[in-house]
Amino acid sequence: MPAFTPAKVPFLDLRAINARHAAELKTAAARVIESGWYILSEELKAFETEFATWVGCPHCVGTSNGLSALTLALRAWKEVGRLRDGDGVAVPANTCIASILAITENNLQPVLVEPEADTFNLGAAKLESILAPNIKAVLAVHLYGQLADMPAIAELCQSRGLLLLEDAAQAHGACLNGIKAGAWGDAAGFSFYPGKNLGALGDAGALTCRDPKLAETLRALRNCGSHQKYRNFYRGPNDRMDEMQAAMLRVKLPHLDNDNAIRRRIAAQYCSKISNSHVRLPIVRGPEETHVWHLFVARTNDRDGFQKHLAAAGIQTVIHYPVPPHQQDCYRAELGKLSLPVTEKIHRTALSLPISPVMTQGQIDAVIETVNNYQP
Ligand SMILES: *Cc1c(COP(=O)(O)O)cnc(C)c1O
Repeated sequence: MPAFTPAKVPFLDLRAINARHAAELKTAAARVIESGWYILSEELKAFETEFATWVGCPHCVGTSNGLSALTLALRAWKEVGRLRDGDGVAVPANTCIASILAITENNLQPVLVEPEADTFNLGAAKLESILAPNIKAVLAVHLYGQLADMPAIAELCQSRGLLLLEDAAQAHGACLNGIKAGAWGDAAGFSFYPGKNLGALGDAGALTCRDPKLAETLRALRNCGSHQKYRNFYRGPNDRMDEMQAAMLRVKLPHLDNDNAIRRRIAAQYCSKISNSHVRLPIVRGPEETHVWHLFVARTNDRDGFQKHLAAAGIQTVIHYPVPPHQQDCYRAELGKLSLPVTEKIHRTALSLPISPVMTQGQIDAVIETVNNYQP
């Protein structure tokens, strides 16, 4: 027996995803190598302009990863006095732990909000019901690629004077009324982790914002707190995006709309052809362009049995996420006593099916057929 049998349907074949652009990526890498400039130079400047244009937001600031982008946004608001130690930041309880880490890294208090059970996202009514005077900001996460209810959330934040930060790490291109993820809030953090809809060939991230002053503060903060070489206004971290990753992202950005369209077509097939009373499918709020299907998350009561059934047919799946942030060891002391039944149920039942721009029709059909055959 071979030591390792590749899955017939891998969860995400990054090698195949990047192989489509191999020649262009190699040309871009050679350009960076030969330029002699590896940090804060032309590639990053060009990527920031191109990504800002694509998002439809005036400013983009490249960062080392998605967590640093989110952390820097909150940090910038602390530096200019909009937030202070201990202020509350409302955030959906079922998010990727990085959203919560960005809050606690800044000595701010995460206020965990139960998501809407059908969309996995923060809803405006629930958010409004928990608002208290200590809460000064909202971190709205567009989980799994779907926009949170941004018209209502943005309006609520505006009327209450709350800062609005978007976690757009999973939602490059999710759009409503012509406004994309990253252009709704006071600032937004993106991740270009290799597996995201727009993935670098290593770690990278970015912030978008409308306020030029905020952009300037963010540019300094990511660069050890320095606007000008050897002059430091802030005690900042080193959270820069390097030239090589910027060059890789410039190759891949022009293909992102097409990749998102492929993801939508696969999701449409899953939604119309999967029919199994034991499997609950995700729901799209509003028109289809609100969702870019970073993940296709199905739910079932016997999640482990469902995952084994798919694995037996060679279909690789992943759990996003097995343990909710408030039950993680690192937050047990502060948050462990919270009871968040909607969130806890999502974490017990969710299973992500393969979805990516390099799946073949045969692989898509195999997923549909295997899910339809599942019996608990
Ligand atoms: C991936 C991700 C992050 C963090 O991005 P990194 O680049 O891995 O630091 C933050 N939030 C969400 C929702 C994510 O999916």
